[in-house]
Amino acid sequence: MLQACDDDLSGQLARVQRRLERERMARREAEAIAEKGLRELYERQQELLLLEAIAGAANLISSVEEALQFAIAQICGFTGWPLGQAYLTDGDGASQRLLPVAAEPGALPGPLAEFRLATGQMSFAPGIGLPGRVLASGAPVWISDVTEDANFPRAAQAREAGLRGAFAFPVVAGSEVVAVLEFFADRTAELDASLQRVMAQVGTQLGRVIERKRAEERLIYEAFHDCLTGLPNRAMFLERLGRSIARQQADPNYHFAVLFIDLDRFKIINDSLGHLAGDQLIVQVAERFLAALYEAEQGRHAAAEAGTLARLGGDEFTVLLDDIDAPADAEHLAQRIQETLRQPFCLEGQEIYTTASIGITVSSTGYASATEVLRDVDLAMYRAKAQGKARYEVYNEAMHQSAMARLKLETDLRRALLNQEFVVHYQPIVSLKTGDIAGFEALVRWQKSATELVYPSDFIEVTEDTGLILFLGIWVLREACRTLGRWHAEFPRSTPLTMSINLSARQFGQPDLVQQVRQIIDETGVDPTTITLEITESVTMGDAEHAIRVLSQLREIGVRFSIDDFGTGYSSLSYLHRLPLDILKIDRSFIAAIDQDGENLSIVRTIMRLAKDLGIDVVAEGTETTAQLAHLRELDCEFGQGYYFSQPVDAGSIRQLLQAPEPSPA
Ligand code: C2E
Ligand code: MG
Ligand code: MG
Repeated sequence: MLQACDDDLSGQLARVQRRLERERMARREAEAIAEKGLRELYERQQELLLLEAIAGAANLISSVEEALQFAIAQICGFTGWPLGQAYLTDGDGASQRLLPVAAEPGALPGPLAEFRLATGQMSFAPGIGLPGRVLASGAPVWISDVTEDANFPRAAQAREAGLRGAFAFPVVAGSEVVAVLEFFADRTAELDASLQRVMAQVGTQLGRVIERKRAEERLIYEAFHDCLTGLPNRAMFLERLGRSIARQQADPNYHFAVLFIDLDRFKIINDSLGHLAGDQLIVQVAERFLAALYEAEQGRHAAAEAGTLARLGGDEFTVLLDDIDAPADAEHLAQRIQETLRQPFCLEGQEIYTTASIGITVSSTGYASATEVLRDVDLAMYRAKAQGKARYEVYNEAMHQSAMARLKLETDLRRALLNQEFVVHYQPIVSLKTGDIAGFEALVRWQKSATELVYPSDFIEVTEDTGLILFLGIWVLREACRTLGRWHAEFPRSTPLTMSINLSARQFGQPDLVQQVRQIIDETGVDPTTITLEITESVTMGDAEHAIRVLSQLREIGVRFSIDDFGTGYSSLSYLHRLPLDILKIDRSFIAAIDQDGENLSIVRTIMRLAKDLGIDVVAEGTETTAQLAHLRELDCEFGQGYYFSQPVDAGSIRQLLQAPEPSPA
């Protein structure tokens, strides 16, 4: 009974124990499942934190390199692997390479530092080594033991450093591998699929960061560089100039110079060969200037510390020469720059020559702003142009004074035009055969005050440069036509009096010139055949076809033409006969010298013969003496104009002259 009872008890106990064991197993299993879930949750959280940290840091980080370094530090922390290295892709095609990003000098144990040092000196072609394989395939690579790997050039160093397992993955932007990251473990490492998955996400994340950073870098670059030449642009130049000015203000021993370079015939090249050729020229010029600057700077400093060559736009370049010893440094560079232009440029298969006008200014002038520097150096450049181009001029105070004077003159002239301060004087043109007044030349003067009469030599050029001549010229035309109309009525002649009126090149280029002349002729009712428009040779030289067209249209109105100051320009004689000319006015420099030597006499004789061949009359300008007059009569010259007969005088004086009894023929 007791036995039976014992058996029963032990059976029960065993059953309980089995049940307990089962329950314990089930609980353990349940606990294990819960723990695994928690762990996975934890791991997922860590992964997310890693990705977030990398994405978030991108906004605070200034360069692609910094972003990669940050990611490496994060990933090493995440995996517990001791070493990581980033590479950036450089070049493309066959020459593509992975270049190591210099690591921050962190405190690494000796052997690891050695390994990193060796890595820093390497570059990997596609397919070579761990990073090269990633570059070639665009996929992650896992090596469980690098010391056993056949395609791992750093195996010896890895063994020294105790590194074994490794993995690397690509950073992809678009479809391009832009970087590769590699990591090393201090033990052999079996493939970890989940780690690979996270790293793929890191690679995409970093790709976006790099893409964004590169776009930012490109924008910043474009804001400070000229897209045609790649040189610094105006913004960058002004920034550097500003720094030099600040430095000069702080340190009186420091000096800088600025050169302003403008090509001399660029507009002509651009207009005749097209903008593409113009662009090519700018690019080639920039290369030569850069070489000249580099050479000059090497001569100046032991270490070539090049100054800044910038393109301001168009054909304008500037150079900032930093820390010069003397203004001569800048002049030396200007000479070198001009030398680089001696050889022709090849554009569109043609050899093209160009020259440059250069202005220079140095900081000893005491500048407070970049604007002041540019103003002065620009003035110096314009002086170089005015002095005949292909040269340089160093800024001085006198240039500033004359620029100020010129600005004042411009303002005064505008006011004079508004206040009608201009008057026309008339100079008789006399028939040398009869001694009669045949007509007049209208010459403008500026009655600045009751006692001050200003002559055209002091203002005509400025009115041409500013375009004021367009208004002034039309005013003179109207005034002279009106006056002549009155004289025609008052002093009728069998051959009516004529009026010569000067037309500037600027007026000649006006599209509505013909219409304006017609309107004034209609308005004043003057006989158009008594009006002679005087043009200089330069007017007809620019665009010959245009000149011929305009002259023909004016001819239809009935007006006549004369070539003024003949002999001082470069008109090609062959083309003179294509122009509808009526009169040649021989420049007064030839008349003045006519009785001094035989050469001038023969020049005048040749011009006379040419005019006869073309069937046109000649006026001898600036006839002053009886001797000159005798020569001209001898040469059978039709007309004379000059102080010998009369100075230019006001309309009232001319009326008196016309009222006087006419002299009998000589
Ligand atoms: P230009 O058309 O050749 O005019 C002749 C210039 O020679 C005038 O100078 C005249 O006063 C000067 N002259 C005349 N006879 C003699 C002489 O015997 N000896 C000397 N030494 N000079 C003499 P002006 O009036 O000072 O005019 C200078 C230039 O200004 C003119 O040269 C002309 O090119 C320009 N100009 C004058 N008026 C006008 C105008 O209304 N419109 C335009 N576009 N130009 C004008
Ligand atoms: Mg004239
Ligand atoms: Mg003249």
